[in-house]
Amino acid sequence: MLQPSLAPATARLNAPAARNGDLRRYYHRLLAEFGPQGWWPAETQLEVILGAILTQNTTWRNAALAIGRLREAGMIDLARLRAVKPDRLQSLIRHAGFFRQKARTIQTFLRWLEDAHDGSLDRMFSQPAERLRSDLLQLTGLGPETVDAILLYAGGKPFFVSDSYTRRILGRHGLLAPDASYDEAQEAIHGSLDRDAGVYNEFHALLVEVGKRYCRRQEARCGGCPLESFLRAGGPRGGRAAA
Ligand code: SF4
Repeated sequence: MLQPSLAPATARLNAPAARNGDLRRYYHRLLAEFGPQGWWPAETQLEVILGAILTQNTTWRNAALAIGRLREAGMIDLARLRAVKPDRLQSLIRHAGFFRQKARTIQTFLRWLEDAHDGSLDRMFSQPAERLRSDLLQLTGLGPETVDAILLYAGGKPFFVSDSYTRRILGRHGLLAPDASYDEAQEAIHGSLDRDAGVYNEFHALLVEVGKRYCRRQEARCGGCPLESFLRAGGPRGGRAAA
């Protein structure tokens, strides 16, 4: 089993909580409750990259429908994707919503991959991780959450995906400032857990599970939540608890 360990917390993470090892305890509690999540649900690096783009602003279910259509069409393939006409690509990924924009993002990424790395994902992922992250963030349509999902789940690089589930859960527990940005949340987590891609992979997937089952955007269903015993007196911060 992966054993995350704590490093000094940053200013944005609640310092006393971090010293008590909260994030490590959260991780082990969730792993014991839900078991390994086996993310990312994809067969190849390219499929992870496409999934990371397609799941922007929609549910994973819709993104998976689009991935399924790409698979059926034999399009989880760099050469075939490069050759496909834009309107055909848009049609294949329609289920994911924002399909014109996402088709453009996929084609922008493919052009950049060709120009910068001879069309090779192996070459791309052999770049220094920080430089690669910075290069990907320059591409239109790729924000930090998408880029970090690509780096972590396709490339095995240690960048935590500090998405809205993470910020909501850790914010309600007083471990993050309620208005923490994506970068601030990531910095806090990187400063509190070892930079280990395996731990980040699992912890992110486990937090998403908590967010879907219990820690909803509109309402925190704390009764029965595996993290309930870690809540401080007064209940969740800034979120309405279910009656
Ligand atoms: S539902 Fe309640 S106990 Fe569970 S993560 Fe959210 S705030 Fe914490």
